Amino acid sequence: MANGGRTIYIAGAGIAGMTLALALAKFGATVIVLERNKRVQEVGAGLQISPNARRVLNQLGLDKAIAAKSFEPSAIDVYPFRASKPAVSLELGAIMRQRYGVPYVVMHRADLVDALYRACRRFANIDMLFGVRGFDAVTHARGISINVDEANGTARTARVHAFVGADGVHSETRTRILGGPPATYSGFVAWRTTLSADLLKGAVALDRTTLLLGPGYHAVCYPLPQRKQVNVALFVKERADRLDAANPPKEPKLPWAAMPSRTLDAIVSAATGAWGYWVCNTMDAPTWSDSGIGLIGDAAHAMLPFQAQGAAMAIEDAAILAPLLMTEPDADSAFRRYEAMRRPRVDRVRKISDFNGFAYHLEWPFTLGRNAVLWAQGPRGHLKRLDWIYGFDPSPETDVPPPDRAPRDTEPHRG
Ligand SMILES: Cc1cc2nc3c(=O)[nH]c(=O)nc-3n(C[C@H](O)[C@H](O)[C@H](O)COP(=O)(O)OP(=O)(O)OC[C@H]3O[C@@H](n4cnc5c(N)ncnc54)[C@H](O)[C@@H]3O)c2cc1C
Repeated sequence: MANGGRTIYIAGAGIAGMTLALALAKFGATVIVLERNKRVQEVGAGLQISPNARRVLNQLGLDKAIAAKSFEPSAIDVYPFRASKPAVSLELGAIMRQRYGVPYVVMHRADLVDALYRACRRFANIDMLFGVRGFDAVTHARGISINVDEANGTARTARVHAFVGADGVHSETRTRILGGPPATYSGFVAWRTTLSADLLKGAVALDRTTLLLGPGYHAVCYPLPQRKQVNVALFVKERADRLDAANPPKEPKLPWAAMPSRTLDAIVSAATGAWGYWVCNTMDAPTWSDSGIGLIGDAAHAMLPFQAQGAAMAIEDAAILAPLLMTEPDADSAFRRYEAMRRPRVDRVRKISDFNGFAYHLEWPFTLGRNAVLWAQGPRGHLKRLDWIYGFDPSPETDVPPPDRAPRDTEPHRG
């Protein structure tokens, strides 16, 4: 069999699920992706793609598609509360290419999802089922059986090599099939919007990322020039008992109302009526797999987005897991090796994200110490500090024989 004889089902056609589908298909697997939405999601706002994620996406052939729809900011300007000049401008642009061989870019999430989807469509061995009503996966002595309730009411059953839950922070694979915990509220909500660049001319730089720090909030803005827009994400602390999922607020409640910041005022007035509200949930799943059923991306380890690494970690997961699923004798050992390789790194990134949440929102006088550290680290300080994140290349760890030499299932596939 030219496909390596392995059939793998993935729940979720998000960034994790489609990256994994592509990586597996390249090794010759037969991949079926189950997505509950009727089509790939076009919602969301901007996404920062750091070199570690871009390296993997390039290895999967997405370089041109991403380059066509993304932008390389020249720096991240970090503004302490009320400052009219940045405390530091963290260099991006050319230095990222020189140092890591790939750029640091920003783009609209829908454009990345679209690029992944188009790439998946080019593989005859990837089948994507949209509008899926439900699924179940059961392990038994002879392998894993899958039941899928398809959009048109058809019931599909299959015997598969592995089942992967890439179904996000509220993953049913984790909670219902693996008996794992529900997501945890982080204490932060995100207000997101994309605004016409014309509305913010003069308020924020249109060639770089702006990071505004304040007591109890921070905001990240970057240009999306292909769309003539600026992406804005404003993060605010919110008590759990004040969240009202059934009746979400329409506008951010500003904790700094008594202490206005000119840039933020400009953003907030430009964004009136255009905000999207997002509750930031996290997950640190105690177990990432059981008997050939495993988790990747937010389903396993959703983190605060304060180092812009959640999607990057999902993309790295896919690059590590795919070859293991194709070469390990069984899916269970593939998932165990994958977790052993991934968990320490993901935990370390999570800690940095949590720390940023703490440091970004500090109040005076603690801000004095933070600002002094920012200033002392200088425009390239972040590169040294984050080298281990951006420089990561999964390919030496995932040397895999070509499909015709890949081991086959011991069980015949009846899916
Ligand atoms: C405000 C904000 C900004 C962020 N910015 C960045 C950034 O700049 N860079 C970065 O790297 N990360 C960023 N992140 C994190 C990033 O968005 C996530 O880590 C990433 O989207 C996770 O991808 P995923 O595929 O694991 O999950 P998801 O994106 O949640 O995708 C899950 C998919 O599974 C589907 N699904 C769910 N349940 C089922 C089911 N029962 N059956 C079938 N399908 C199902 C969903 O419809 C969806 O398509 C940010 C997050 C937030 C909140």
